[in-house]
Amino acid sequence: MATKTSKTAGKKNSLLIVESPTKVKAIKKFLGTGYEVAASNGHVRDLPKSSMGVDIDHDFEPKYITIRGKGDVLAELRKQVKKADKIYLATDPDREGEAISWHLVSALKLDDADATVQRVTFNEITKNAVKEAMKHPRDIDMNLVDAQQARRVLDRMVGYSISPLLWSKIKRGLSAGRVQSVALRIIADREEEIDNFIPTEYWTLDVNLLAEGEKKPLVAHYYGVGNEKKEIRNKKEMEEICASLKGEKFSVTDVKKGERSKKAPLPFTTSTLQQEASKALNFSTQKTMRVAQQLYEGIELGKQGTVGLITYLRTDSTRVSAEAVASANAYIQENFGKEYLAEGTTAKKNEAKIQDAHEAIRPTYIENTPVVVKDYLSRDQFRLYQLIWRRFMASRMAPAKYETTSVKIDAGEHRFTVAASKTVFDGFLNVYTDDEDQIEKNVLMKNLDTNTKLKFDSFESAQHFTQPAPHYTEASLVHDLEALGIGRPSTYAPTISTILARHYITKENKAIFITELGQAVNKMMNDAFPQIVDVNFTSNMEALLDGIAEGEVKWKTVIENFYPDLNKAVEAAEKELEKVQVQDEVTDQICDCCGRNMVIKYGPHGKFLACPGFPECKNTMPYFEKIGVECPKCGKDLVLKRTRKGRIYYGCIGHPECDFMSWQKPVANKCPKCGSMMYAKSNKLVCSNQECGYVGEKPKEKE
Ligand SMILES: [Zn+2]
Ligand SMILES: [Zn+2]
Ligand SMILES: [Zn+2]
Repeated sequence: MATKTSKTAGKKNSLLIVESPTKVKAIKKFLGTGYEVAASNGHVRDLPKSSMGVDIDHDFEPKYITIRGKGDVLAELRKQVKKADKIYLATDPDREGEAISWHLVSALKLDDADATVQRVTFNEITKNAVKEAMKHPRDIDMNLVDAQQARRVLDRMVGYSISPLLWSKIKRGLSAGRVQSVALRIIADREEEIDNFIPTEYWTLDVNLLAEGEKKPLVAHYYGVGNEKKEIRNKKEMEEICASLKGEKFSVTDVKKGERSKKAPLPFTTSTLQQEASKALNFSTQKTMRVAQQLYEGIELGKQGTVGLITYLRTDSTRVSAEAVASANAYIQENFGKEYLAEGTTAKKNEAKIQDAHEAIRPTYIENTPVVVKDYLSRDQFRLYQLIWRRFMASRMAPAKYETTSVKIDAGEHRFTVAASKTVFDGFLNVYTDDEDQIEKNVLMKNLDTNTKLKFDSFESAQHFTQPAPHYTEASLVHDLEALGIGRPSTYAPTISTILARHYITKENKAIFITELGQAVNKMMNDAFPQIVDVNFTSNMEALLDGIAEGEVKWKTVIENFYPDLNKAVEAAEKELEKVQVQDEVTDQICDCCGRNMVIKYGPHGKFLACPGFPECKNTMPYFEKIGVECPKCGKDLVLKRTRKGRIYYGCIGHPECDFMSWQKPVANKCPKCGSMMYAKSNKLVCSNQECGYVGEKPKEKE
């Protein structure tokens, strides 16, 4: 990319190429005359769809081709390139963007162009940021490009080699992805954990106590015997405690005052933004990214013109530029007061030394408060912007402070406790709250001390059962994917939307469930490709990709080391499949139309019956897989069913006359203690009647 002499000497013409056409107008205005701005509309080259596109025998060289439909875009860009004597590649500031710039160099033959070619990156689409970035053009960073190439090639190899195996084993058209398969496995494991969870009974016991001169009773919770915490396991234990307390005096033995503070949250990264937008606004990860992209690319703000409202949305950094910190501090001091200012920096400790250009997701101008921009934004844009603005503001604010009181009340040998807390300084909570801030806001009577006379009023007891881990939501899945080191800011949302689109998982309200199809795919991946679905293997791979981006690892080395293992596993799985003659399972169900025996096929929502006479006979019927258990209500067969969204449950074949249904899989054995239906949970049989609580060993299955 050496400087060459310009043919059109005299007039300087620069061409700046961005990814998205929505940025063109704003950036053109910021740069002024002498600059043309054009958009590539995302990627222009990729691996072909019709073949693997990676030359295994020649150093794994990828064979990129122009993406279908991008010919016109490229032709137009070529025209503009001819008129320019300086070309700036201003695609998005991440690995993906770096790779697009590199592909543009090839596709537009910029190496031969009569112009200087340089890369610039805009972390925010504002006049100052764009002008500043133009002062620091650089060469394309091949380490970043290579990290992206490695990800693309790895994903392609996995998808291309494994998908045909899914087709022959389960259903045509299925596909396996590298990160998607691990995400599916994590969800499948959680669902299995929930299915196998055995609830245990426990009780809570509260005592209402009356203090002299107080109208409201003081509610204390059972703690245990003296200093020893004790669980109340059943009704009998609870009643024994109540009986032994009869006539005992309740007295306050200790009142401890303390102070607690809650630190402000860090500004948003992609992962935390997705999690909070899901919790607070009920946005899917995909929607969050779509709306954040709009805020980043620029919003028309009346007199201000078009301005990018937030910094780049794909980031795992919580770093904030010194200018942004200064303007936030000034805003807080003026609008809230000096005491609301955070001391020092709020970035994670280990990030302080990272010299990367990336920043947290924050508003570009603090003065663009949610109120100021509200009229220019759609409802979704406004709500997301408000969340980002408040979170950033909060991150620069002082901790909230609470005064806590914990009280011990003894009676006989038993102890009860009361805890209360009072906000003494709201700090960052003034602008930003989340669910976790809902701590017990129990306010105690002012003069409660060891001299307070208490009179017993009543007991309140309640039966509970321990609960399994909750089903994943998009928010908790993103949280775990990040914690496990799987995926990166650019991959969380596409990973989740892909497995949803393939019907491997389904969502009901916010909860994620695995589908019948997802179970089949996950089982095959676990059996045949344990390495691909291994969490540690995948997180090591992500670390290797980071290593490539930092120039520590060569990308071809990563591919060379990966491919032989993948190939071996694919060959083994193919052999295994040859042994099992893959044919559609034939059933006793006779086709109403032509009399053939119908076969079981996989549809997007699980198994269904299809006539083998296809295409002459197109008859299909729902398939109800009997589980070999009688309905406890009517005695007919129980079958596997799916909700409209695809969540699996067990219902009666006699539906709608019989309304029996169970989320958990019933077994044929009845409870020896109470005769109720039982569930199989790993190696145990558990009574469906929680009151009974019977848990027994599962009998060994006979071959
Ligand atoms: Zn038929
Ligand atoms: Zn029934
Ligand atoms: Zn029972």
